[in-house]
Amino acid sequence: MAERENTDPQKMEKIVSLCKSKGFIYQSAELYGGLNGCWDYGPLGAELKRNLKDYWWRKNVQERDDILGMDGSILTHHAVLTASGHVGGFSDPMCDCLLSKARLRADQIDPQSGTAYHYTGASHAESGFSVEKPFSVLIDPTANQNENNARKVAKQYYAQFLNGQDVPAKKLELAGESTTEEVDTTKYNPENGSLLTEAREFNLMFQTKMGASSDDNDPNAVAYLRPETAQTIFVQYKNVLDSSRVKLPFGIAQIGKAFRNEINPRNFTFRSREFEQMEIEFFCRPEDGLRLTEEWLETRLSFYEEIGVPREKLHVLDVPDGERAHYSAKTYDIEYEFPFGIQELEGVAYRGAYDLTKHQEHSGKNIEYFDEETKERFIPHVVEPSAGCDRTVLAVLCESYDVEDLTKEGAKKKDERTVMRFKPCIAPIKAAILPLLKNKPELVAKAKEVQHLLQPFMNVFYDETAAIGRRYRRQDEIGTPFCIAIDFETLGEEGPNGEDLTDTVTVRHRDSMEQERIAISDLLPWLLERLR
Ligand code: ATP
Repeated sequence: MAERENTDPQKMEKIVSLCKSKGFIYQSAELYGGLNGCWDYGPLGAELKRNLKDYWWRKNVQERDDILGMDGSILTHHAVLTASGHVGGFSDPMCDCLLSKARLRADQIDPQSGTAYHYTGASHAESGFSVEKPFSVLIDPTANQNENNARKVAKQYYAQFLNGQDVPAKKLELAGESTTEEVDTTKYNPENGSLLTEAREFNLMFQTKMGASSDDNDPNAVAYLRPETAQTIFVQYKNVLDSSRVKLPFGIAQIGKAFRNEINPRNFTFRSREFEQMEIEFFCRPEDGLRLTEEWLETRLSFYEEIGVPREKLHVLDVPDGERAHYSAKTYDIEYEFPFGIQELEGVAYRGAYDLTKHQEHSGKNIEYFDEETKERFIPHVVEPSAGCDRTVLAVLCESYDVEDLTKEGAKKKDERTVMRFKPCIAPIKAAILPLLKNKPELVAKAKEVQHLLQPFMNVFYDETAAIGRRYRRQDEIGTPFCIAIDFETLGEEGPNGEDLTDTVTVRHRDSMEQERIAISDLLPWLLERLR
């Protein structure tokens, strides 16, 4: 089992670079320097993400009798998020670096020990500049730092108050230097030693104004971009129940955008400010909640295996008491061994009756379930498997990425191929159609015929440029599971053993690189069977 801290930054760099060069994922607004925490999916990324969402929907809605789908609005009524506790409590503690102004999550700062140098202010006699403000710097004597490092940082800090006066920071005189020894403090920025502000709670929701209210402070005009898709499900639970005549246990599934003003977006798409969730709220009788939580955990683990994330790379964290939400009797985090460490992919949480009870209280409307058989009325409990679509795409990209050494024995030149080993069901391009030569109209015409045959059923790619071997490698790099070559035997030339291969094609498998001959008339069912 991998160590939690094991990381492979080089692999991650290669994946990020491949994502950009092949058109999977680009930084949003890159042209203008980038919009932090936002990402755009390019042509291949859009296909991959869509295939993942389609597969999740198929498995959780289409192939189940007990789950219904919905698609709620992103703009969310302030009352919904007040009832759910997001308006009052969806926040992270954060502090600012007094020197660099960087904003840091207070609970993610590593404790440090060292000597703190304290100052009361600074001045510059010649210009008459003077400022009185307490400031401190932490230095680490074990890392060969001394009072000069502390003074340099302090002077940079006080130079911010020069207000355009042309005085170099190093000419400032520091006032009132004193020191203390600090052990395991989190009050200083680990990057530069500067003192941080006190931690403040920072609400992660994006707030907006709806309509043309003339009053800027009209609380009723406030709406939010939803921070999770779950709340739309809870507030529509009664409507779904009444309009669909379902019985407990049943679930409502939703895929959609969610927005969180993350203080420190990082690790490529892993922590973004705009992302997509794939969530199920599975409503049940109270006595079934814990059992269903275990069942959902298994179902979700199998899902990841089906899309190519093996079980041995997944870790199940049984979230301990005190770290779970107060209303949750059981929560599992499904984590994956990303190249930047073991991190959460999905949460499977037993949320009890908390959410529906809150919405019943705040709305003043009865949303109880009526059991026809027992004549009981009660608020159902809920189990929530909540997955991140972007995080799953990232896990699939990391897991699929492979560089295979194909150098032949004795060969002088190294031969490596980059392969994205996507499962066929989510691969962006299912098959590449490759006429052997582009200057033979009969080959091209036949290849186009095959392309038109397959196009209504799957995403295929036609490519006639470069040698066939190079074309195969190009497809390996973007994870196309099948390459279909149209050659002279397709047109009627005899095969190597004198056989008639008219209207058959060569199908090359991406992973094994093996080839087989298939009749064009069998091609569509052959492919569909392998793409499920
Ligand atoms: P984390 O602890 O990583 O912030 P969380 O526990 O707050 O995540 P949930 O609120 O349980 O996350 O959301 C469910 C899923 O939504 C997460 O497991 C993750 O896959 C996804 N998700 C949450 N926040 C982000 C984000 N900022 N960027 C991308 N995906 C996210």
